Amino acid sequence: MGEIHEGGCVCGSVRYRAKGLPKRVSACSCEWCRKRTGSALGISVYFDDENVELLQGKLKTYRLISDAGRWIDSQFCEKCGTALTWTLEFRPGHRGLAGGTFDKPQSWFKPERYVFARTKPDWLEAPEGVTIFEAMPGSAKE
Ligand SMILES: [Zn+2]
Ligand SMILES: [Zn+2]
Repeated sequence: MGEIHEGGCVCGSVRYRAKGLPKRVSACSCEWCRKRTGSALGISVYFDDENVELLQGKLKTYRLISDAGRWIDSQFCEKCGTALTWTLEFRPGHRGLAGGTFDKPQSWFKPERYVFARTKPDWLEAPEGVTIFEAMPGSAKE
């Protein structure tokens, strides 16, 4: 798969490149996604970590501990603060990229699932064909 997808932060200092197709694409309305995006939902595009390359710029890391006690290493541009990427303790080898930070319009990926739908706004309807989970699938809180 020769697909190349590039993106970056608001100020332009951080640039990244992802190769191939995403492993998984989710929309999510958990508290972390809402706060890091400042929006009603986050779009998480997961690639194999080895297929994501930092082209330029510096990322700062903030380690968040989830309700389930697992770490999330969230990385953002040290200059403008755009949240770009993260790794998760429970998803080793994968790297999440914030869907809104890709250069191209989002037509090349489509969420297959909506997680933490219990905290999505009522006015937001998940499209047909998207699997809806009220919380994180497999967690005790589902
Ligand atoms: Zn920046
Ligand atoms: Zn989330």
